[in-house]
Amino acid sequence: MLSISTRPGRSFIGRLTKGDDLLQALEKFCEEHNITLGEVRALGAVTKARVGFYNQEERKYYFLDFDQPLEILALVGNVSLKDGKPMVHAHVTLADHEGRAIGGHLAPGAPVFACEFAIHEYQADQTLNRANDPETGLMLWPAS
Ligand code: ZN
Repeated sequence: MLSISTRPGRSFIGRLTKGDDLLQALEKFCEEHNITLGEVRALGAVTKARVGFYNQEERKYYFLDFDQPLEILALVGNVSLKDGKPMVHAHVTLADHEGRAIGGHLAPGAPVFACEFAIHEYQADQTLNRANDPETGLMLWPAS
């Protein structure tokens, strides 16, 4: 198990631009504001979406494409460093026109229709850098 102690940093609230790629726009915001550790929340709607499911046996992501307008019921994510740059790791729950929920690991390929986000930065004495985790095959924070 790993945990680090954090202190509140800056907080931001805003909206993304229609047509932005949801994940890439959040990462760009973090890069532009030098946010290297934090959490992200958002809600709104996308015109379509691409989410991943990690097959634990095969250690491989499978991507699901939903080519239809969807509500973003909840996006929860965090910000840390990967290859020295801020990376947003986010999961989304989305709903279709009948209210049915789908979701997964947010991938590029979800254009924003409207999106309101909040980002809370954390200050810490150390950084969290993602690296390959041999036990899972995922890019995770160090285990200790
Ligand atoms: Zn994930």
